[in-house]
Amino acid sequence: MSWDVVVVGGGSAGCALAGRLSEDPGRRVLLLEAGSAVTEPGAFPTDVRDVASLGACDPDGPHTWDVGVELTPGHRTRVGRGRLLGGSSAVNGANHIRPTRADLDSWPGWSFDETLPYYVRGERDLDMTGPLHGDAGPVPVVRPAGELRAAVTERFLEAAVRVGVPLEIDKNGDQPPGAGLMPANVRRGVRVNAAIAYVLPHLDRPNLTVRGDVTVARVLLDGDRAVGVEGIDGERIEAGEVVLAAGSVCTPQLLALSGIGPPDDLRAAGLPVHHERPGVGRGYTDHPSVYLSFPDTSGDAVHPEAPGAQAAVHLDAGDDPAGDLEILLFARPFAPGGSCHLMCALQAPESRGVMTFAADPRTPPRLEHRYLASGHDRARMRQVVRRAGELLAAGGMALEPTGTPDGRTLDDRALDAWIAAHLGTSAHLCGSARLGTADDPDAVVDPELRVHGLRGLRVVDTSVLPTVPRRGPAATALMLGERAADLIAGRVAAPL
Ligand SMILES: Cc1cc2nc3c(=O)[nH]c(=O)nc-3n(C[C@H](O)[C@H](O)[C@H](O)COP(=O)(O)OP(=O)(O)OC[C@H]3O[C@@H](n4cnc5c(N)ncnc54)[C@H](O)[C@@H]3O)c2cc1C
Repeated sequence: MSWDVVVVGGGSAGCALAGRLSEDPGRRVLLLEAGSAVTEPGAFPTDVRDVASLGACDPDGPHTWDVGVELTPGHRTRVGRGRLLGGSSAVNGANHIRPTRADLDSWPGWSFDETLPYYVRGERDLDMTGPLHGDAGPVPVVRPAGELRAAVTERFLEAAVRVGVPLEIDKNGDQPPGAGLMPANVRRGVRVNAAIAYVLPHLDRPNLTVRGDVTVARVLLDGDRAVGVEGIDGERIEAGEVVLAAGSVCTPQLLALSGIGPPDDLRAAGLPVHHERPGVGRGYTDHPSVYLSFPDTSGDAVHPEAPGAQAAVHLDAGDDPAGDLEILLFARPFAPGGSCHLMCALQAPESRGVMTFAADPRTPPRLEHRYLASGHDRARMRQVVRRAGELLAAGGMALEPTGTPDGRTLDDRALDAWIAAHLGTSAHLCGSARLGTADDPDAVVDPELRVHGLRGLRVVDTSVLPTVPRRGPAATALMLGERAADLIAGRVAAPL
């Protein structure tokens, strides 16, 4: 059997892409997913469905890739990325937020105006109307209202206004950064992942085949043309076009395993060099973060159908009007009776990460995030922690008596040390196979997401984003799938 398009990875972008591509009954689409593939929404395990639970992202759990990460030299952690149909959208926080206009306008060949139709097409916004919002897409978007909004969320927003942060009523509304409710892809307490939205309703299409438990090991190349893929068990699948949508860790790994990447790194790993692309796995970005904890008993009473992350403050720290600092409120404690948290994150970091590969497809890449390598990033992290401390004080929300420092009373050195010791990651890795024009030696794909210098091979996932957007990337992963379907069909929507 030969396919018109094989999509490798049934995650956020891969599901959106396969769903849209298979709308054309004349195109035979095969979607391959390494993890399990359910056939109806109710078959997802409870912790995958339940938006109140973040249990499914446990790196030790059955639905994740256990990704080891070195955040700074010697400081290691583990991240659980989705490994099931739906991908990371099935295990994530369900915050559905778009990048800023500045992010989208900085991507070569892409822009806010050109991507807007695809964000709109994907969404069914149940709160907001107008040209910036969709009302008929497969992804429901809601903000916590009424009984779904926690008491601590109200206090957080009031405190933000008290310290001078403007309100940002619609976080997907192209407004100046400020304090507002977090949009979420949720319906009646269910995390509406990309498989639920884009694939499961269409399993009866004769031209769409979805296979779970198939781990692809490499792309098959005939000269400069991709002709199919090979699984780790040796199965070979032919296709007219191969699309890698395996996410920002596994996609660069698959490129490397296929002999596409930085030549010295490939040789050092014992891999063949078929096609030199120095940017594979190099120069990626992610959001560094730390948590401030504060006791708040009302957090225990958050409605079971509400997401835990309910509101966020985005700040212009002085010279980034798009807002490069984020304070995200987790209104529900991570454990019953525990604290609430503010996650303080750097949204436009300068520091860049590097990934290196092994010849065995079962050996995960080695990731060095190199967080806070620049003085600029360290200064910004101090700033966001201090602003969060101000906000808590203004809201009468005391910090934990032990453990969490009040950044306002620590000097730079002491605060740097605390941040370094408590550093974490938002798990938003992007840019490990960046898009760019032909004159950019580090670009891996062109603005139409085709691997430079090869035919029949595209990348459609968060690997291609030139830098991590200033907001979470989940909504953008879906947008990539939506737009790539049009690019493959040879058409693009008129800018809105
Ligand atoms: C715990 C967690 C919480 C997050 N919370 C948020 C949030 O609330 N809001 C937000 O905006 N962002 C969030 N993110 C980030 C966001 O979810 C991801 O950036 C986005 O979903 C990535 O989409 P993707 O299509 O690039 O990859 P994924 O959705 O990760 O999909 C990749 C898919 O490819 C499959 N795959 C990989 N390798 C192979 C192979 N060799 N063969 C076959 N299949 C393969 C994987 O199993 C997976 O299903 C979170 C991420 C994590 C991990």
